[in-house]
Amino acid sequence: MREIDASQITDVIRETVIEINYHLDQSLFQLIQQAKDKEHSEVASSILDDILENAKIADTNQAPLCQDTGVVVVFLEIGQDVHINGNLTDAINQGVKDGYEKGYLRKSMVNHPFNRQNTGDNTPAIIHTKLVSDDKIKLKIAAKGGGSENMSVVKMLTPADGIEGVKQLVLDTVFNAGGKPCPPIIVGLGLGGNFEKSALLAKEALLRELDDSNPDPTLKQLEQDLLKEINALGVGPMGVGGETTCLAVKVNAHAMHIASLPVAINIQCHSSRHKEVII
Ligand code: SF4
Repeated sequence: MREIDASQITDVIRETVIEINYHLDQSLFQLIQQAKDKEHSEVASSILDDILENAKIADTNQAPLCQDTGVVVVFLEIGQDVHINGNLTDAINQGVKDGYEKGYLRKSMVNHPFNRQNTGDNTPAIIHTKLVSDDKIKLKIAAKGGGSENMSVVKMLTPADGIEGVKQLVLDTVFNAGGKPCPPIIVGLGLGGNFEKSALLAKEALLRELDDSNPDPTLKQLEQDLLKEINALGVGPMGVGGETTCLAVKVNAHAMHIASLPVAINIQCHSSRHKEVII
């Protein structure tokens, strides 16, 4: 049994929330750059330039990429041969509290659907835990903005809706969202499981590498087709029109009930902030 002190987890969370809020991932920066080089609309191109310039300033000045510094979401994979000394949930929330304080990041969490008092330290984090068969802890840590999250959807389709029904739902969702999720976006699409599982699949899909593909040929094709079809909608960067609405589509799927085709669409803005750390 490997012993891991909970304070190690706090340290990782604290440093990671600052890092992801200050520094845009290099592969994402390059993807936006490539999109800008291909963009024919002058206004769209200038917005992509602004996004790139903003990322450079944030990087140099150690400042947040966006005023919305997000809700912290943590996907944990805990090896069954690990023993954690201390309380895991407390350790994660302490890391969030320390990181948002140290990094001068905006605290965005409120405590109640209607009272809406700020919790003051950006806690609690949203934590998802899976047990795996090793002696490590993998943490996928994200800071998820509210604007893009608000444009996300879960819908229970029927098997008869099929792949065309899924595509139509995605296209309608992205088109109706317009500029609100701060395009260019990344789309996480969760297919199958049940109501709540589809949402988790969609969220975790957003944490995949930008240049990977679903290993299933049909789902890989769906990722490629949807990327083209979303960009053909013409929503454009920040909704001003143009060819660059979406940078990537990631589809994750799971087995499901014979009567159901759950579909979750989790939308991520261009300020995609996440990192994977293994302890
Ligand atoms: S959706 Fe993203 S880019 Fe837009 S305000 Fe929120 S965090 Fe910032």
